[in-house]
Amino acid sequence: MHQLREYTAQVFIDGRFEAPDGDRDLPVLDKASSTLLGTYGNASAAQVDRAVRVAKAAQPGWAGVNANRRSEIVRDFARQLELRRDELLTLIIRETGGTAEKAEEELGQAITQLNNSATQLTENAGAILPPYKDGKISLSRAVPLGVIGLIVPWNYPMSLAMRALAPGLAYGNAVVLKPAELTPFAGGQILAEAAQAAGVPDGVFNVVPGDGPTTGRTLSEHPDLDLVHFTGSFEVGHQIANFAARSFKPVATELGGDNAFVVLDDADIAQAASCAVWSALWYQGQTCITAGRHIVLRSAADAFTEAVVERVSRLRVGNGLDDNVDLGPIISETQLRRFHEGLVQPSIASGATVAIGGSFDGLFYQPTVLTGVTPEMPVFTEEIFGPVMPITVVDTEAEALALVNRHRTLMNSVFTGDPMRGLAFAEQVKSNEVHVNDGYARHGGEGQLAGFTHRQWIGIQTTPTTYPAWAEG
Ligand code: NAD
Repeated sequence: MHQLREYTAQVFIDGRFEAPDGDRDLPVLDKASSTLLGTYGNASAAQVDRAVRVAKAAQPGWAGVNANRRSEIVRDFARQLELRRDELLTLIIRETGGTAEKAEEELGQAITQLNNSATQLTENAGAILPPYKDGKISLSRAVPLGVIGLIVPWNYPMSLAMRALAPGLAYGNAVVLKPAELTPFAGGQILAEAAQAAGVPDGVFNVVPGDGPTTGRTLSEHPDLDLVHFTGSFEVGHQIANFAARSFKPVATELGGDNAFVVLDDADIAQAASCAVWSALWYQGQTCITAGRHIVLRSAADAFTEAVVERVSRLRVGNGLDDNVDLGPIISETQLRRFHEGLVQPSIASGATVAIGGSFDGLFYQPTVLTGVTPEMPVFTEEIFGPVMPITVVDTEAEALALVNRHRTLMNSVFTGDPMRGLAFAEQVKSNEVHVNDGYARHGGEGQLAGFTHRQWIGIQTTPTTYPAWAEG
């Protein structure tokens, strides 16, 4: 394990670190031990404004850097993270309360995103269109959006920031990043240090740590942004869309969902149970694609529940820095109380049964399986964002489908012995992502040109042409 050290998250503007003008020395805890991991402060409104203005001034120069050079810098950004690999794995475990496996996933994704973007930016970024008029050349080219305001959550601070930062920078934009208050190091400070070391030009990437309602709001309201890219809760996404609408800014949102995991009557129960436990409990259920609602056909329900409980009974909860830990702590007491008191306890009071778990010690919450869950109970109606698996029994496949589609979801699973039956089910699910006989997805590095550029059409008339008689001289 890497030596434990303390961190400070500073404001990073125009290639230089500076102290925040707002509240300072706010604590960031090691989530498992509740000891001090470091401090951060709130960037003031003036600092946010300066960061955006500096980004706006630097962006055209960055967009003008030739593609090979830009690609080299983005690739070096990845290398700077790679060079600090051991330190960063330890930091991510401590700052996000994850396990070593989760930290490997997060750092790996961040590095891959940078390397993929470094390649993609050198690929074809436009098209020659068929001429619509004699003697006219028609081009369509991808143009950077300009300045992106990026607001990210605490669960995967580094890789979720990188999801927009890597392609955003690669395609010639400037970025102002506000990390989450609970994770300003992996989500901000480290990225600024790596970008600086990689030679990202001053002003192209800026970081403004701070809280959501002040720093985050100031950033998302800034009129000089060309895109607000937000990952987080539905409620905050809704507020940000409202702020941004005042200055007609586009907003890209990646929000939460109340995802479903369906087990049909012909499913391989052992496979379904293993996948369900993984999809529901990976990183204590604190991901946007966590399987929340487990909807099981009656004839499979007893066997599925038994297999799930058996697997959950073997899980070890503890500090991710220790060996043999499967689940770490919940990110904060506020989050733990939100789902335990707000969702689990009221569901139990309404008749749900605790098959296993249901208790906690400090932030260490025992993985929990609830049976007898009905579609009206809060653990079914709300995104839980904790290590809780509610199981709901239904009589028909049609009933299961209707329940899946009752909520906004990001990713769903259906288990069946017949892949074509799974396909037919998946086709009727109203969400962007459905997995048949699998779960918890890992996205590949598909091109992101469309999200971080806009198309500019250029028509070049190469020969004299005629205009309506009334316009001619
Ligand atoms: P959150 O919405 O509370 O916070 C996200 C970010 O928004 C933080 O940086 C926060 O400081 C900032 N913020 C809060 N209030 C703000 C305001 N008024 N103006 C501007 N910024 C503000 O979310 P969270 O608790 O950090 O994360 C959990 C949520 O994120 C869950 O709902 C989860 O599903 C969702 N999520 C979605 C994805 C995805 O890819 N779709 C990924 C991870 C998390």
